Amino acid sequence: MADIASASGAPAVTIPIFNTFVHASAQARVAEVLNTTFLSEGKLVKEFEARLASELGMANPAALNSGTSALHLAVVVAGIGPGDEVIMAPQTFIASALAVVQEGATPVFADIHYENGNIDPATIESRITPRTKAIMAVHWGGYPCDLDEIHAIAKKHGLLVIEDAAHAPGATYKGRAIGSISDFTCFSFQAIKHLTTGDGGALCCPDPANAREVFRRRWFSIDRANSPVSEIGERVYDLTDVGYKYHLSDYAAALGIANLEGFQERMTYRRQLVQQYEEGLRNVPGVTLFQHQADRESAHWLFGFHVENRLEFIRALRAKGIVSSVVHDGIDKNTLFGGKRQELTKQRRFDETQIHVPLHDALTTEQVAFVIDTIKQGW
Ligand SMILES: *Cc1c(COP(=O)(O)O)cnc(C)c1O
Repeated sequence: MADIASASGAPAVTIPIFNTFVHASAQARVAEVLNTTFLSEGKLVKEFEARLASELGMANPAALNSGTSALHLAVVVAGIGPGDEVIMAPQTFIASALAVVQEGATPVFADIHYENGNIDPATIESRITPRTKAIMAVHWGGYPCDLDEIHAIAKKHGLLVIEDAAHAPGATYKGRAIGSISDFTCFSFQAIKHLTTGDGGALCCPDPANAREVFRRRWFSIDRANSPVSEIGERVYDLTDVGYKYHLSDYAAALGIANLEGFQERMTYRRQLVQQYEEGLRNVPGVTLFQHQADRESAHWLFGFHVENRLEFIRALRAKGIVSSVVHDGIDKNTLFGGKRQELTKQRRFDETQIHVPLHDALTTEQVAFVIDTIKQGW
């Protein structure tokens, strides 16, 4: 791979950790929308939603303008408000907890499985109080959480389950699609996620009444289908509660529809790259692979593992033009969320050793081999 690491030692090419996937048909599809000049929410949003349901198994998906909007709307429709508590893992992006704080509620942090970064159900029950309303499960890197155990706790204590599935479109848990299992599942279509609309997201609710609420609230709390425009030129409605402007637009949906083409093939390719990484790194001293169970299929947004001497590792890869990253540390460290919790011992250890190497649709098997070889040379 002399073309990747030049003779002088300075990397000639950088292998990024993420890419933004834009399907070849996207330009034409988006151009068509621009030509019609119908840009806002219309029939393409409907078509995108129908295809998310039929191709990815999402239950009643409402297309929204971001994953953060999906999380916020889930919290709103779940009825979570001032003084309430939501139990979640800190191993996520701040958006998961911001949505809770936005409604005046408090994120309460449980610990994670050191082996994969997901919430450890054994640490949930001790954090339940009379104010607990929901458990939020974040599928770190796309690997589904222990949903059966989480649902059993939720059922026992009368709690709702919200999934932050920003990393997990196309993932399955015991054969069921992520997006069809819990009360609320939130997806992100942000630029570096698997399936992008530029920015965008989706909120899925198997319960039709919740789904109706999501569709109403995403557009100012006006029931669009049942608010005809009167003769004097305004829709007939009475605003009874707070609504949001969270819908997706048709030009973004056109990009999403284009990017759904070949989605499953790209997921298969990701799995192949992951297998190559796992085989290549299994017995490398200083590397500990994440542990995954056979009863669920990750969406593989990230390829993560644990390393000793992480900063040296990052520098050694950077010297060869390979980007590696922690992506996110435990979010509890933020002042807004109360500051770092030392009692979350596995999260603290995870913060010190987790690392992610490039995994995306444009990555080649030769590049993966080069990353593996570079790691094998030590750091
Ligand atoms: C990307 C991401 C979000 C936010 O999604 P946006 O579409 O950027 O608003 C939320 N949670 C997690 C875990 C994410 O990675």
